[in-house]
Amino acid sequence: MTLAGTSITAQEPDWAAAHKETLGHLQTMIRLNTVNPPGNEMQVAKYLESTLKTAGIETHLFEPAPGRAAFVARLKGNGSKQPVLIMGHMDVVGVERAKWSVDPFAAEIKDGYVYGRGAIDDKGMLSANLETMLLLKRNVIDKGGSLSRDVIFVANSDEEQGGDFGMGWLIEHHPELIKAEFALNEGGRTRIVGGKLLYVAVQNTEKVSHVVNVTAHGPGGHASIPLEGNVITRLGRALAKIAEHKEPLFLTPTTREFFSQLSNVWQNKEEKLAMADVASTDTRRQQRGSRVLEKIPVFNAVMRTGVSPTMLEGGIRTNVIPTDATAKLNVRTLPGQSIDTVVARLKKVIGGPLVDVTISDRGEDSPASDFHSPMFNAIRESAQSLEPSLAVVPYLSTGATDSARLRVWGMQAFGLLPFPMNQDDEDRMHGNDERVPLRSLEFGTKMIYGAIARVAR
Ligand SMILES: [Zn+2]
Repeated sequence: MTLAGTSITAQEPDWAAAHKETLGHLQTMIRLNTVNPPGNEMQVAKYLESTLKTAGIETHLFEPAPGRAAFVARLKGNGSKQPVLIMGHMDVVGVERAKWSVDPFAAEIKDGYVYGRGAIDDKGMLSANLETMLLLKRNVIDKGGSLSRDVIFVANSDEEQGGDFGMGWLIEHHPELIKAEFALNEGGRTRIVGGKLLYVAVQNTEKVSHVVNVTAHGPGGHASIPLEGNVITRLGRALAKIAEHKEPLFLTPTTREFFSQLSNVWQNKEEKLAMADVASTDTRRQQRGSRVLEKIPVFNAVMRTGVSPTMLEGGIRTNVIPTDATAKLNVRTLPGQSIDTVVARLKKVIGGPLVDVTISDRGEDSPASDFHSPMFNAIRESAQSLEPSLAVVPYLSTGATDSARLRVWGMQAFGLLPFPMNQDDEDRMHGNDERVPLRSLEFGTKMIYGAIARVAR
């Protein structure tokens, strides 16, 4: 890579060797079983520590709980800019062994893929991040070049089970080691559609998850005498009204930019036009476009608050009419939206005094990261240097990630999944026969290396 006007004097890395090395790291880490619970991430952390130490890179290893690990490594820059952080988690979700066609912990290579639990989530990214550190050390620092920022590598535990020993622990106990201007985390997409590499979605903001209780009250009694005010049927009617209700359209700057960029490369004609409509500033066009896009559940979810009933509680015996029954709703607001306003709307929709709507678990909103920042631009340049036709779009995720904590803390965090994949491969995340295409592993490593080399030049 020739990075004009930079203090990075390095040559393009030897990518054939780097790819072999990245694959080796990934295979080693897949073979270290870190299914959480119990996690046992210390095995992976020790591997990372020895690999980076051998390369002459500063490392810090902590044990927040027995067998759990928090690992940090740092490449020193010249201090002219604030640090940049690249992170990944070492734990993986469990497997249904009988449904896999290969051993999930053998890291077998078959038909151009490496198979194994964690191949996508998140040991692939961990390997690409690790390789990025090694290449920056060898190709820049060891050759007399310099970085404008420290590059910090973090490997976390317990991401899949609440993160008690993960990023939260590091923020609380060692903030000085991880404080940075920008962070690259998991949470985006690099999507192949119809066999064509179409877009990179870089997560820069996310929905906020809350739990809302809907509780119906009414007269109790013996079930042998049916009562009109039965709370189970009352709750049922309330839920039916909620199901009919549609939260208003709410387009964040990220969502409009997302659809604006995506409309340039989208293949379906009707949806392409609808995306341009939603991205416009004309509210009538926005409404029109949203009616087309809301048929696609994930697009619907980025345009309005989502309300999903997930649990029911009520009754203790089959022959007793209870006096209360509760449904739990998982409500996901868009950044900048108030959950109190949503609850007020739900109360109005349900109507009547005998049904309460209360917030039992309130999520925390975090500011969106800037999609015009040097980090976002570096990701775009890096991705387009590999495939010029790629759209690189900011993306609001419907799921919650660790990045929210970082954003609240004042960092600009961005989520990537740098490996080009079609829907089928992506759906194997947390599922059976998880795998990453070997070519995508190489692409993703180049993309991360290129982004960090650019932002730290
Ligand atoms: Zn993950």
